[in-house]
Amino acid sequence: MTASFDIIIIGTGAGGGTIAHALAPTGASILLLERGDFVPQEAENWSPHAVWKQLHYRTPELWLDEQERPFRPYTHYNVGGNTKFWGSVLYRLRREDFQAIEHAEGVSPAWPIGYDTLSPYYDRAEQLYRVRGAMGDDPTEPPHGPYPFPAVPHAPGMARIASRLREQGLHPSSLPLGLLNPGDPNGCRLCNTCNSFVCRVHAKSDADVIAVRPATQHANVTLWTNACARRLVHDPSGRMVEAVDVERQGALERVSAPTVIVACGAVNSAALLLRSASDKHPDGLANSSGLVGRNYMAHLATMLEGVQWKTNADEFQKTLAINDFYLAGAHAPYPLGQIQSQGRTHAIMAKVTGDAWRWKGLEMRFIPEWAYELWVSRATDWLAMTEDLPDPGNRVRLAADGRIILDYRPNNTKAHARLVDELRAILRRLGYWSPKIFAHSAGAKNTTHQCGTLVFGTDPRQSVLDPFCRTHDVENLFVVDASFFPSSAAVNPGLTIAAQALRVADHIVATRLT
Ligand SMILES: Cc1cc2nc3c(=O)[nH]c(=O)nc-3n(C[C@H](O)[C@H](O)[C@H](O)COP(=O)(O)OP(=O)(O)OC[C@H]3O[C@@H](n4cnc5c(N)ncnc54)[C@H](O)[C@@H]3O)c2cc1C
Ligand code: SF4
Repeated sequence: MTASFDIIIIGTGAGGGTIAHALAPTGASILLLERGDFVPQEAENWSPHAVWKQLHYRTPELWLDEQERPFRPYTHYNVGGNTKFWGSVLYRLRREDFQAIEHAEGVSPAWPIGYDTLSPYYDRAEQLYRVRGAMGDDPTEPPHGPYPFPAVPHAPGMARIASRLREQGLHPSSLPLGLLNPGDPNGCRLCNTCNSFVCRVHAKSDADVIAVRPATQHANVTLWTNACARRLVHDPSGRMVEAVDVERQGALERVSAPTVIVACGAVNSAALLLRSASDKHPDGLANSSGLVGRNYMAHLATMLEGVQWKTNADEFQKTLAINDFYLAGAHAPYPLGQIQSQGRTHAIMAKVTGDAWRWKGLEMRFIPEWAYELWVSRATDWLAMTEDLPDPGNRVRLAADGRIILDYRPNNTKAHARLVDELRAILRRLGYWSPKIFAHSAGAKNTTHQCGTLVFGTDPRQSVLDPFCRTHDVENLFVVDASFFPSSAAVNPGLTIAAQALRVADHIVATRLT
């Protein structure tokens, strides 16, 4: 017998978890499907060896690159999705990001909605994810009311750096962060294992803690973990999804609902639609535009470390942003991107990266972990992040055996190289020696900020989703994860995914639950 619900939501990350939280109070019967399980609170949560060497929490699934070589994607299948591991930097897109912008290597397209449309939902998302920030310092901050909570104060070393950046004529600002009750005995400890780690004390604003657990307190919400949606099944007309085939405990089950919301993450949502091809939808479900899986973006990202002789005593240093290069300006006639301070690098993180390198003929895998410790304990860590541009050739495809193929060639690399140069110059002016500024690019296999594979828009020939993230082709099918981004912007995507999920929830309540 097919179990029936009012709404099925597939995936429990930033998009799926947030929309479940918003729809739970409606009383509609909701089935939440999650292919992974809850992440236990355990020692490995905060173990750099477990997280970075054993890749304890990453999916063991292998994807294929553009040459069909297997690689292990940087993604996680568990309740809360990738938000369990995020640095909880929760930015609004800048107002300009919603408009078409000329970049060094092409145009970042306009969104079908403007900043003012999403702004009230950003307000709600910031409340929900308890974002801490400060207005007034960031030259690119779009207009909005005060943050729900004050910014996390800079640690002493970062505070000194902020004032020296101001002396350089820059405008350092506080990173907006979703951290719960820092300083309280049961709250965030401002530790050095946050970004890329699970918070062992549940003090990070992730979708599991903030959204999924509260949603499942409602009797009308059912969560199935270890339940992987394999295929969406449509009615004879091809205009309505009537069921979802779910693999659970080794068996295939069929569940149905008049409204189906896909939120598997940008790569997996596209893959699910491609796997749901049928006679009526031969190129994949809802793919009359031919755009399902195309325009994959993931940000260009380079980590830089400034190393000094003195030990860096700051425990939590991920509080500072430099947005002076975000838009075109005196530095360049096109946008370069964003600079953020990063969480502390641990020796094993540096070693795992370094082991693959040769330096002056030396195989770096022979360098012991303690030597890396000498280095990273004296380092301050930074991230330079640039928008990559939508390119239909960058896409998710399926191999004959159903595995995911990710074709991705980074673009807009000239702007990124200039941003990295700007950051090097800033670090040099801060007193770090040039030979002691280390740079590591995350490269093409970094899938952490994946987006853009099911773009939203008003024209069904140019987009997969409408402005409320409903597929143009299938009337009861919505997608509320990072897939809908027409451009990647250059700030972290999570708050925008959550804000749009809240907007889509309002739309579903108004149009499908009345
Ligand atoms: C280490 C790291 C740090 C990050 N830091 C930040 C940050 O500081 N700020 C920020 O904004 N962003 C950050 N991100 C990115 C952010 O986590 C993602 O943009 C965001 O989680 C994407 O939300 P989503 O809903 O699209 O997908 P996800 O959060 O990935 O959720 C997708 C969910 O769907 C499930 N799923 C997939 N396929 C199926 C299926 N077939 N059936 C059932 N379930 C399925 C997955 O298991 C997962 O739970 C970071 C990511 C990583 C990995
Ligand atoms: S205690 Fe705070 S800083 Fe440490 S992992 Fe948890 S949320 Fe992050």
